[in-house]
Amino acid sequence: MQIRVLGCHGADCLVDGTERLVRQESCGFLIDNSVLLDGGTIGTRLTLAEQCRIRFVLLSHLHFDHIKGLPLLADNLAEWFVEPVTVAATEPVIQGLIDHVFNDKVYPNFFQLPSREHPILQARVLHPGKSVVFGHLEVIPVAVNHTVPTVGYVVKDGEAALLYSGDTYQTEDIWSLGQTTPELKAAFIEASFPDELGKLAQKSKHLTPSLFLKEFQKLRRPSLPVYAYHMKPPYQVQIKEEISRLGIERVGFLEEGQIIQL
Ligand SMILES: [Zn+2]
Ligand SMILES: [Zn+2]
Repeated sequence: MQIRVLGCHGADCLVDGTERLVRQESCGFLIDNSVLLDGGTIGTRLTLAEQCRIRFVLLSHLHFDHIKGLPLLADNLAEWFVEPVTVAATEPVIQGLIDHVFNDKVYPNFFQLPSREHPILQARVLHPGKSVVFGHLEVIPVAVNHTVPTVGYVVKDGEAALLYSGDTYQTEDIWSLGQTTPELKAAFIEASFPDELGKLAQKSKHLTPSLFLKEFQKLRRPSLPVYAYHMKPPYQVQIKEEISRLGIERVGFLEEGQIIQL
């Protein structure tokens, strides 16, 4: 399984890198060129040809930083699509997209354009805990603990599996599933705020570095590679420092442009 990181932060921001300015963007992960995990970043990182190869978009929740690339993906594909792109998410997320985004006010309803019979986007409702097959991947959505209905995902390709936490505060079910997934090769776990903003993290239902550690430990796989993501750009230096001090065996930080092979 190849995972290409299009965006992996909790917002968009241009920040100072070691040599030049670096663009940090909200969450979008392209799996094996055809399945997109969250849609925060799409068109700013992919050519039109690459966007045309996307067959499925799996959304974790309705928050803007996870869906904002989707309307413009549909727009780009309008003249080029052959088969509809499946947008897979739980019912409240699909309904929210139709009510609040593709409502012919904020943006055209690409679930019915160019025609109801052959639209650019087609919805697929997911149910937490129920496994679904998308192309060559098996995907299991698992409800997590955020301010709006949210799922994380376990994604399997027959050889390897990835655990994606989604935006979450302290939670249980996804770690139980991770424990019973022997082919699990990596976990992406969110870490949005530094420890000193613990109250804000609790209120907005996100993790801090010390909670990141507690959640990771629930997997009972201390040697598993674990990657922090969804860092809010203004705090990313501090968050990285705090996570690096936790003594986790194989911890990394996702970066835009990174390719992870599982
Ligand atoms: Zn988010
Ligand atoms: Zn969120």
